[in-house]
Amino acid sequence: MTMLDKQEGKSLHAPEGKITAPTVIWPEGWIQVKVPVPFSLKWVNSYLIPEEAGYTLIDPGLRTDEAIEVWNEALIKHNLQWTDMTRILLTHQHPDHYGLAGYVQERSGAPVFMTRGAHAYAVRLWGEGSDFSTVLQSLYEEHGMPGELREAIGENLETFVDMVSPQPEVTYFDAGSHIEIGGLSWLLIDAPGHAKGQLCFYQKERKWMVCGDQVLPHITPNVSVVPGEDGDPLKAFLDSLQELGLFEVKLAFPGHRDPFTDFEGRITELQQHHMRRLDRMAAMLAEEPRTAYGMCEVLFGSRLNGNAHQLRFAMSETLAHLVYLERRGRITSEISEGVRRFAAVTL
Ligand SMILES: [Zn+2]
Ligand SMILES: [Zn+2]
Repeated sequence: MTMLDKQEGKSLHAPEGKITAPTVIWPEGWIQVKVPVPFSLKWVNSYLIPEEAGYTLIDPGLRTDEAIEVWNEALIKHNLQWTDMTRILLTHQHPDHYGLAGYVQERSGAPVFMTRGAHAYAVRLWGEGSDFSTVLQSLYEEHGMPGELREAIGENLETFVDMVSPQPEVTYFDAGSHIEIGGLSWLLIDAPGHAKGQLCFYQKERKWMVCGDQVLPHITPNVSVVPGEDGDPLKAFLDSLQELGLFEVKLAFPGHRDPFTDFEGRITELQQHHMRRLDRMAAMLAEEPRTAYGMCEVLFGSRLNGNAHQLRFAMSETLAHLVYLERRGRITSEISEGVRRFAAVTL
């Protein structure tokens, strides 16, 4: 709970007690729709923002029958129709945010906005003839993951195609520009690290931040090495947190869990979390050389439970930390018999 004035949304037309859509009304008439996702995240937040005519919809959710059912109930509860959606804005390309965009576009005719970088990822993963799964599996092979787990991850990736279909016609918008949402001007801020091309939206008079998955309460946003994207995602993430920390934020609207007020404090916690993890990993490698998969098992083992989706996140997150340590000279790695092992650098 927060100290802000919030109330459960009620419709004048819905029969009392029958419509149970998980929605919450926030100041300025914003409607938070908790769209279910079949992962441990439980739900993704969609936000409906009233415009002079219709609504702007931020991040419609993942395409599943359950999500569509919740949307249908939410529309009835708030006396809305799909055609009231005049614009769809995506903070980023992850399927739990992007997946329903095409479905809603088909029903509303609304344009779908995302960044060029975010869209490139969607095309690479779910476009015709995508080889992403093969490339990811060979990366994991180099990093010591057993074959049956790589295959399970490949199969799990395939299941997402239906959950992002149909894919939307996209219009690009860019970091650094301003757009009007709900009658106010919002700055689009580049927020990489969790997803390349992700945007946060900042409104300086209200001091509100729509933060996508970059800063989440209670959840540590995943930071993954993604094949085909150069670089050092954890460095990008930490730099982005530092930049976001410069904005004065009174209310943050995250992609998961509930809107929250202590944006700055949450950023500090996330920074400390990664620093602790980096130190722990460097210490593990000072004991003995290990593969990324070996590290991943130690760091996340009991939480993975044979879940291919979780394993992919855990493995790519482990790699992001290893890349960070290696680029800063704290660890080194070499390949022997096709498998890369990391070791601490002793000074
Ligand atoms: Zn995400
Ligand atoms: Zn998400």
